[in-house]
This record gives sequence, structure tokens and C-alpha cells, in this order.
Amino acid sequence: MKREMEKRFEGLGVSPGIAVGPAHVREAGTLEVPERRVAKKAIAAEQKRLAAAVILARRQLKRLKAQAQQDVLTGEMQFLFDAYLQMLEDSRLVRGARDLIRRQGLNAEAAVQNQLNDIVHAFQAMDNAYIAARVDDVRDVGNRIIRNLMREPLKPFSQAAPGSIVIADQLSPADASQLDPTRIAGAATALGGAEGHAAIMARALGIPLVLGIPGLPEAVKPGARIIVDGTRGTVIVNPTARTQAVYEQLKTAARKETERLGHMRAVPAVTRDNVSVSLAANVELPIELDLVRRNGAAGIGLLRTEFLYMSRDDVPTEDEQYATLKEIVEAMDGKTVTVRTLDIGGEKPAQGLLGDLSEAATSALGLRGIRLSLKHRKTMDAQMTAILRAACHGPVRILLPMVSTVSEVRQARDALQKAARKLKRRKHKLPDPLPPLGVMIEVPAAALAADALAQVSDFFAIGSNDLTMYTLATDRTNEHVAHLYDSLHPAVLRLIQFATQAALRSRIPISLCGEMAGDPRYAPLLLGLGLRELSMVAANIPVVKQRIREMDMAAANRRADAIMGQVDPGRIAALLDDFNGLA
Ligand code: PEP
Ligand code: MG
Repeated sequence: MKREMEKRFEGLGVSPGIAVGPAHVREAGTLEVPERRVAKKAIAAEQKRLAAAVILARRQLKRLKAQAQQDVLTGEMQFLFDAYLQMLEDSRLVRGARDLIRRQGLNAEAAVQNQLNDIVHAFQAMDNAYIAARVDDVRDVGNRIIRNLMREPLKPFSQAAPGSIVIADQLSPADASQLDPTRIAGAATALGGAEGHAAIMARALGIPLVLGIPGLPEAVKPGARIIVDGTRGTVIVNPTARTQAVYEQLKTAARKETERLGHMRAVPAVTRDNVSVSLAANVELPIELDLVRRNGAAGIGLLRTEFLYMSRDDVPTEDEQYATLKEIVEAMDGKTVTVRTLDIGGEKPAQGLLGDLSEAATSALGLRGIRLSLKHRKTMDAQMTAILRAACHGPVRILLPMVSTVSEVRQARDALQKAARKLKRRKHKLPDPLPPLGVMIEVPAAALAADALAQVSDFFAIGSNDLTMYTLATDRTNEHVAHLYDSLHPAVLRLIQFATQAALRSRIPISLCGEMAGDPRYAPLLLGLGLRELSMVAANIPVVKQRIREMDMAAANRRADAIMGQVDPGRIAALLDDFNGLA
């Protein structure tokens, strides 16, 4: 038999690791949707047909949700399926489809398809990775309703041979919930975004995943041998024996590195000269909690609560927020959870909250973070109350984003007191004392006025991502100025140093939770500037800890002093690399 040629594809590696196995090619998920007109007198019956398909979809999702309760993804799947179930209530999708049947006399499946196309189109025009990921969610719910209308069941991966590599057009989160790591070794798809739920779940399950290879399902024959390299974003179809040998070696090296870093979990983060450092985790979605625990985080240094507000048309209730926060606090088992209040605005939109506000109003220099919360007092009050209730289940701190004035902190403290009084009136238990209230130092004004802010704050957390953006007037999401975005710019470093010294003088805790914290290269400089708490993506804790354990604090202090005397970011980077033995 003639050997098939080796083919290589480059995509987006979103879940690291290497998997080798036979292809399980899933037929394209989109259906041929028939379009026809229904007579006026049949419109009510067509709307009923739609309603029945929606009810069936709700039942199917409830069943999937119950199944998901048995696996490791419980928290996130619950949240996700709840979001899906909500989309089946009176959402833009269902409401719009019902209108299309009435106004245009379309059949129900075509109405759902047209409405789905409209939503996808509108979302895609926003050119935002988070929204792109939500598009997949809406598409998944819409396709489910269409399948129910056409009586086409969804096919899971039950036919896949053990050790298979799933090849599909796209993976919906419901698909991902059926990716059993004992049977599915890896996956690669034509569509999907790095921030989508499928990517997040694949990471949590340890299944290597590469997205964004157009035409992949058409290029792969069922059963063909596949290598998925989720670390480098490569997919190889029909690899030669030589390629396979190379990847076997890479796999062994990766396993050894993980084993080596695995020891880091249990050892403390101390420098060679005995200076202790606290390494906490940043959390964007509850699904990351397992990783947080596995990597030995000291706590959650930044819980971005935006996830509670983002994939929906309305605002979450106090009870909903409380339930999710309580789960997170309990999962951390006595370790502190720093809950940041809503940081909507800038590049992070939330339909339900921003509905009546223009994009300009909520731009990066507009109503973002605490500014928006103080304008939407009801939303802020509900969030504060939910946080206070969750704080009865374990240690919690409250962190305010985008603060630039003392008055914002005072108003937020009033909101906190008001929430406490409300709970007292309701005869509700209250955390005693109330959780510490801190501010993000991520606007240059906050860094420069750190002395004043320290008088009204219980702690600081430096957000170096935004601090870099606002200090250098360089949009963190604009690829045209990406070369100017540099956290090692002396202006940024001086602000970090200034804020750190202000906190130390006022004896309040200070941490840094921007991306800088997760890069082991920066650790000597950040510690040399006086920081002792860093919060980062959980998976980076072991490498940062390793760097800290190899480091001599006295030497790092001297190097930080030398760096702070420099004015050129290139020279600063060189001094840092030299200290790290990378020069
Ligand atoms: C930051 O700005 O550094 C930060 C941690 O917040 P976010 O990335 O959520 O804006
Ligand atoms: Mg920020």
C-alpha cells in the first residue's frame, strides 16, 4: 500500500502537551437548514414548534449538566450549562427567532439559523477574543435547537477508538464535556478561539488542543495517524517514522520537566538567604481552581469577577453571585481569596450591563472598573452583598479596579458598609471583621498618589498590565503599538517602586498581579523593588518559585538598585538577563 505523505499544519496551541494517535474525524457540525415560508394561519403552530424544540434543548442540557456533575469540571460546567440554559430563556436568539417567524413567515429552523447568523455577525464585528469565544457558545445553543427541529441528534465521541485524536470543525463546550481523557488523547479543530470554553476545559483535562486550522477535517482521513503538539500549535498528519521519533523525544522531555517542577508544589517559596515570598494565583474562571490547588498557590491574589457578567444579556442576581463565590471560597479551604469587583469597560464588555452605554462611554479612559460600578450603584450593592455573604465561608479580601482618586475608595467603602447593614437587617450572618478593602494600582495617578490612597485602603495590588498601558499611552490590545508596550520601561518601574514604598511605609500589604508576576525573569527585579507577594496564572507558579529558590535576595537588591539607575529599557533588560544568567 502506498504511504500517505506527511502533512504539517500550523494553528493556535491552546492546551499544551503532545498527543499521538489515530484520527477520529467528526463530521462537520453545521446542518443544511431548509428555508420555506409558512402560511399566516400556520405561524402560531410554527412558533409552538420552536418552543417545543427549545424545551427539548433545555431538557438535554439539564441532562448533560447532571452528567458533568460527576467529573472534575463540576464548577465550570455548572456555570456554563446555566449560561446555556439562560440562553434558552427569553434571549436575543430565541426572541429574535420567534419574531422572524411572525414578521417574515419563516419556518422555525430557518428563523433560528438567520437569527444566529445575525448575532454571530454582530459579535464578530467587535473583533474581540472574548466575544469570539462567546460566539461559539451562542452557535452551539442555536445548532442544538435547529437539530431538535430537524430531529438530528448530536453525536458524541462514543465511537472514538481509545487514544484517538478528535478532528472536528469546532468543539462546543458541550462536546468538550464529553472529551474523556482516558479515551481521547488530543484534539484539533478548524475553528475556535484561545479564550473559548473548549480550550479552557481541554487545559483543565490535560488534553493537548490546537485550534484554527481551516480545512483540517477535510484534509484528514478517519484513522490516519496524527500528532497534536498543543505547546507549539502544530498538527502533523501521517507523520514519517523520523517525525514520530522526534515527537516521542519531545514528549519524554516534557514529562521529565513536569515531574521536576512537580516537586515545587510542596516546597516553600524562599530565597537562598531565607526571604519568604507568597505566590498566589489569578483566576478568571472557576474551572481553574483545580490547577490553582495542583500548583500549590498560597491563595487567590486576583479573582476577576467579570466571568459572572460576560456571557449573558442580563445582570447576575446577588444569589447567583453568592453561590459561585461561595464555591470558590470553600474550594480554597482557608486560603485567602481576593475578589476584585467588576472590571467591565475598556476591552471587556458585558452586554447586560452596558446595554444603554456607548462603546466610547466605556472606553479604557471612560467608565471602566470602579467608575462604572459607582454609576451602577444597584449592581455594585448586589456584588458587595454577595461578596460579604461568601466571606462568611472563608477569608476574603475585596479589591477595587481602576481607582484613581481617594473619593472612589471612600464611596466603595460606603457601599460595603451599606451592604453589611442590609445583611444585618436581614438577620444574616456577617464576617467579623469585615473583609479588607484594597485598591488596584494600575493607573499612574494611583501610583503617584499611593501615599494618600494608603490612608484609606487596607492593601494594594499593582496591576502592571494596565499600569504599563496607561503610563506609556500604549493600548495593550493594539498590535500596531505592541513594540512600545514594555513593562521594563523606567517610568513603569519607578511607579511600581513608588507605590511599593508607599505601602511599606504605611504598613499595608502590597502584591503585584499583572502578567509580569508570572515571568520568572522579572522575579529578582520585583523582589528587589520590595515586593513579597506575587499573583499569576496558576501554571506559572512552579517556574517562578524555582527562580526564587535559586535567588540570593541581597544580590537581587543590588541588581534592582543598579537597574533603577538606568533610563534605557534595553539596558534594563540586559542587566536583568545578565542577573538571570540568560545574557
Ligand atoms: C492588570 O491590569 O495588570 C490586571 C491584573 O488587571 P486586568 O489584566 O484584569 O486588567
Ligand atoms: Mg487591569
